[in-house]
Amino acid sequence: MIEDKNQQRTPLSEFGEFGLIDHLTKNFKINHSSTIKGIGDDAAVLNFENKKIVLTTDLLVEGVHFDLSYMPLKHLGYKAVVVNLSDVYAMNAKATQITVSIAVSNRFPVEALEDIYAGIETAAKIYNIDVVGGDTTSSNTGLLISITAIGEAEDEVYRSGAKPKDLLVVTGDLGAAFMGLQVLEREKEVYKVNPNNQPDLEPYTYIIERQLKPEARKDIIKLLKDLDVKPTSMIDISDGLSSEIIHLCKQSNVGCDLYEDKIPLDPQVISTCEEFNIDSTTVALNGGEDYELLFTISQDDFPKIQANPNFSVIGYMKEANDGMHLVTRGDSRIPIKAQGWKNFNG
Ligand SMILES: [Mg+2]
Repeated sequence: MIEDKNQQRTPLSEFGEFGLIDHLTKNFKINHSSTIKGIGDDAAVLNFENKKIVLTTDLLVEGVHFDLSYMPLKHLGYKAVVVNLSDVYAMNAKATQITVSIAVSNRFPVEALEDIYAGIETAAKIYNIDVVGGDTTSSNTGLLISITAIGEAEDEVYRSGAKPKDLLVVTGDLGAAFMGLQVLEREKEVYKVNPNNQPDLEPYTYIIERQLKPEARKDIIKLLKDLDVKPTSMIDISDGLSSEIIHLCKQSNVGCDLYEDKIPLDPQVISTCEEFNIDSTTVALNGGEDYELLFTISQDDFPKIQANPNFSVIGYMKEANDGMHLVTRGDSRIPIKAQGWKNFNG
């Protein structure tokens, strides 16, 4: 895409560093009263008065976290913001500002950076966050994006508050981003052999979108507040259900029973798993990049979430010495492991 001869290719050297940031961020709007000064001085100035601040940062590296042969740059910019905001929401906080730092090699023209920033701008609008700073520099190794997100918390939720008998709840469905990646990787291999082959990706629309354009669950933070439910612990699912359950259990000093038949799966995940001959439970446990929220609630709060289609109760917490187990459809109990992909044969 960036090699397209029909596209304009303005070299990065055309702009000085500050000229480039001004150029890339000229359409960004400031919406939060906590942003006193955004881009344009040596540092941003924020004022949260008496609110607590959450701060989180992520680094995405080409070839490790994304592959530009199927990841459009605009989507990459969008996803880089979303994965970061997901961590803010996982604290039960409201995301308000981000800073964006990008390192690119000079094989990228200005237009490529414009595409990345267009994705960032879209995400900033949709999630209502102010872009208040950043840096752009050259890289010898490929593209790197680092985003820092800032948010405000009235009633933050940690990973450490789960109690025995609390219910384990997950939003949305799991495994789709991983299966979307499998389809994209397969099509990339097909394309290498026959570039004229036009893949039919229609049966995979949902799972590919979950990989290329994930959304963070800002809506859930509001919904939980509206339902008057405060989770006892919470985390977002970036690495797969099993490792996030282990984080919650270890940091809360509890155990857990997770029920295989309760894990929410989209029909497209199930059919694609059948096609690839992969176990769908394994994908949900270890796939990752779902950016759903995993949390625990007191059993007293169960009636408030019971009928809501956003939530699936997938298990409950136990005493730490009971351990962490997957209860399979066949009623056997398998210890939950972080890298279960290789160790676990359901
Ligand atoms: Mg996280």
